Amino acid sequence: MEMLVRRGYLWQSFEIYGGMAGFIDYGPLGNGLRRNLEDLWRDFFVINERAVEIDTPTIGIEEVFIASGHATSFTDVAIECNSCGRIFRADHFIKEKLDIEVDPTIEAVKEVIREYELRCECEGEFKDPEHINLMFETKIGPGKGKKGYLRPETAQGIFIPFKRLSDYFRDKLPFGVTQIGRAYRNEISPRQGVIRLREFNQAELEYFVDPRNKTHPNFDDVADDFITLVDKFDREHRVTLREAVEKGIIAHQLLAYFVGKTRRFLLKAGLQDDKLRFRQHKDDERAHYAVDCWDAEALTSYGWVEIVGIADRSDYDLSRHTQFSGEDLSVFIPYKEPIKVKKRKVIPSMEKLGPVFKDKAKKIAEMLEKLEDAGDYVELEVDGEKVKVSSEYYEVKEVEEEVHGEKIIPHVIEPSFGLDRITYSILEHAYDKDVVDGEERRVLRLKRWMAPVQVAVLPLLSREEFEKVALEITDELKKAGIFTEYDDSGSIGRRYRRYDEIGTPFCVTIDHQTLEDGSVTIRDRDTTKQIRVKREDLIPTLKELLNSEKDIEEFGEIFRANSS
Ligand code: AMP
Repeated sequence: MEMLVRRGYLWQSFEIYGGMAGFIDYGPLGNGLRRNLEDLWRDFFVINERAVEIDTPTIGIEEVFIASGHATSFTDVAIECNSCGRIFRADHFIKEKLDIEVDPTIEAVKEVIREYELRCECEGEFKDPEHINLMFETKIGPGKGKKGYLRPETAQGIFIPFKRLSDYFRDKLPFGVTQIGRAYRNEISPRQGVIRLREFNQAELEYFVDPRNKTHPNFDDVADDFITLVDKFDREHRVTLREAVEKGIIAHQLLAYFVGKTRRFLLKAGLQDDKLRFRQHKDDERAHYAVDCWDAEALTSYGWVEIVGIADRSDYDLSRHTQFSGEDLSVFIPYKEPIKVKKRKVIPSMEKLGPVFKDKAKKIAEMLEKLEDAGDYVELEVDGEKVKVSSEYYEVKEVEEEVHGEKIIPHVIEPSFGLDRITYSILEHAYDKDVVDGEERRVLRLKRWMAPVQVAVLPLLSREEFEKVALEITDELKKAGIFTEYDDSGSIGRRYRRYDEIGTPFCVTIDHQTLEDGSVTIRDRDTTKQIRVKREDLIPTLKELLNSEKDIEEFGEIFRANSS
């Protein structure tokens, strides 16, 4: 953290006013890294899926969260000290003080407090535990206004315009809709630095499918990847994704596909495979909407941290929004061939109904037509009045009808990524120390395509003739779309150390020979090896290096300069 703050990756928000837990600023480097992470995510989950990206408001009206269940169920159990008034998230406090995993229920927490005579840090007693809602509440408009909430997830913004999205995809399932943006949770006592934030960044994919077909056409791409799974009974499996589906460890192929794709994405972003695992939610841990859920967890100095949640949310959200909004959010799925279905139909006789039921006859006939069957008589309510209609007024016939398809409410599989936690895990996994020229060196081994500063251009000496060429080259690299920094301050050795520490994969140095023949050196961060290339080869060489993990040796003769 000291390095990240000093070098401009992450800062405590509101620092000059004493700071506030749960908020961070992304400095220039942190912001660059997160932006690269977002672009990589788009490449995996938008461009290379049948998916689109949308952008909806971060404030939601109350109705949305009543329907979604967040207004009532998005809670944590909190304990408040009777003496100092501090409030803690109960399960975290108990884990920290007693090293016990407690179920996040009022009863379980009460029991632990009683059994262990648990007290606050100030030695005060706790009041009875309570559910506290994690959403930030706000008012929309002046005066009394309308109640709203800051969204606790981006997902709801995707469910609400579902009809329009389905229309965009010509009602053809499956399709995916993504959103990258801020989410807000008023976490009770965030004490884990950058891990538990009150305002954070999510990238979510809602993948809508026909519930009878939870497969993915590209499953084979990831099916043979080995993966570490911890199931809901805490059993660890090291299996391929294909085996995980066959053995029923993961509920179905589609969920397994997204587990596999998530792993590939995280590795590409720079996480280490041996510090990555997927853990199934226990039955009492799953969110109020989830059917089966797997978390990607990264091993960090905070322990195993959930960085991605991959859930089968079933038809929960669309059904609830259908119920609460009155809008039908189903999709019509046509059959390949229309099918014939035998049906019973109630056929009213107007001739008989008219004289007896007079002005009510038409309404009665309409109601009878809607029935699927009828016995000796039916009871109807017409204009608030109960009416008994016996079978002499209608006939029940068996008819054959052509049916062209059916309406279904799609199920949704949701991979939900916490970008802040992933960014932080990347930084921890990349951070390394080694020895160069007999001196300890700190180096951030970011993947080349993730580095916020990809190339540093360094004039060997701060003399005009070196600086002029270095500035020209900086300009050319920037025009070629490479994130480049120019730096002429301090000794060359110190500058290399700085760029090693912030994870810049390559330094281009302008030296005496550059002034003679135009060639420059490229220095590799990880090996500190250098090659010399012609000026005209510089951009193509760097571009190829930045998009691959190729050794710099493939591109020129290696030499080691002093103060590498
Ligand atoms: P959830 O909807 O709780 O499954 O969250 C989805 C993802 O958002 C998680 O896997 C985390 O990576 C991330 N996340 C959830 N809560 C927070 C938080 N308070 N601070 C930072 N990231 C979070």
